[in-house]
Amino acid sequence: MERTLVILKPGTLQRGLVGEVISRFEKRGLKLVAMKMKQLDQDILDVHYAHLKDKPFFPWLCDGMMAAPVILCCWEGFEAVKVVRAMAGSTNARNAAPGTIRGDYALSAQENIVHTSDSVENAKVELDRFFSPEDYCEYPSPLNQYLYAPDEK
Ligand code: UDP
Ligand code: MG
Repeated sequence: MERTLVILKPGTLQRGLVGEVISRFEKRGLKLVAMKMKQLDQDILDVHYAHLKDKPFFPWLCDGMMAAPVILCCWEGFEAVKVVRAMAGSTNARNAAPGTIRGDYALSAQENIVHTSDSVENAKVELDRFFSPEDYCEYPSPLNQYLYAPDEK
């Protein structure tokens, strides 16, 4: 099974949407295998958002990500990276389709509720950035036979 990183951004915590957003992933059938709350700092954001460091909005983006703690989650499932990415919707929430997380809860290109890993390769790098091996919990998945066909692993 694939694993992907979701970060519930500071605005999600402040607006009381943590439960709503986590509930969406749970209801979809994804498995929560690690979760923690953390105050991010500039050093980790310089690495996490390195691909945006030359953008004019980079300082605002970092300020927004440090404005309150974030909730870090690792979700597991068959093709979880693309499934979660599609659930988040377009980066600019004003363009995000209704029914997606951003399309239902946000109006901004910056303040857009969640970070989601954009590829299997980046998911591995990002999960290692925020989680240690001991942060992951192993527990049975008794409903998997109702969520997946035998070849969907
Ligand atoms: N962002 C922004 N303005 C933009 C593009 C991105 O403020 O024009 C912010 C936004 O919070 C986004 C984050 O930078 O979630 C990372 O950008 P990326 O292109 O990786 O989008 P994502 O993968 O989050 O959809
Ligand atoms: Mg991204």
